[in-house]
Amino acid sequence: TQPVLAVIGRPNVGKSTLVNRIIGRREAVVEDVPGVTRDRVPYDAIWNGRAFTVVDTGGWDPDAKGMAERIAAQAEVAIAVADAILFVVDATIGATDIDDRVVKLLRASGKPVVLAANKVDDQKGELEAASLWNLGLGEPYPVSALHGRGSGDMLDAILEAL
Ligand code: GDP
Ligand code: MG
Repeated sequence: TQPVLAVIGRPNVGKSTLVNRIIGRREAVVEDVPGVTRDRVPYDAIWNGRAFTVVDTGGWDPDAKGMAERIAAQAEVAIAVADAILFVVDATIGATDIDDRVVKLLRASGKPVVLAANKVDDQKGELEAASLWNLGLGEPYPVSALHGRGSGDMLDAILEAL
């Protein structure tokens, strides 16, 4: 069986778009309306000849009461089933309280984490991405899931983490 990468992060940060980028197919559902991804959906991925499973997560309504709790609970399950985690933050927004909470779970898990600073569509977004060093998860990888910018370096880091 192949190693498992779980993709976690707040609604609308671009997890499903990034999953499609990673698998090279448009299978994960991307929506302008947040919260459409089912709980955990696995896809087969391959990078540099190494196969792995990438698990997209979602399934919560960001307007629902207790959203933070649901995200945390979902993240805990995803972390438990994963060999490594791709934690996605929207670099144009920066880290929120919910992100800080997920960071604590990630730290407690002891599992390897790759930090993706998504929506860095051009060079001027790189500065915002660099501020995510503050999360204490190591190097933030600036990526544009939409355009593919930076995805090669991120995938190399993923293979090292798996
Ligand atoms: P998820 O809820 O985290 O799975 O986020 P989605 O993948 O569904 O994306 C949410 C929205 O963000 C959609 O409108 C995407 O087109 C948009 N989006 C995702 N990645 C990027 C990116 O790299 N750049 C920009 N500008 N928009 C993005
Ligand atoms: Mg999604």
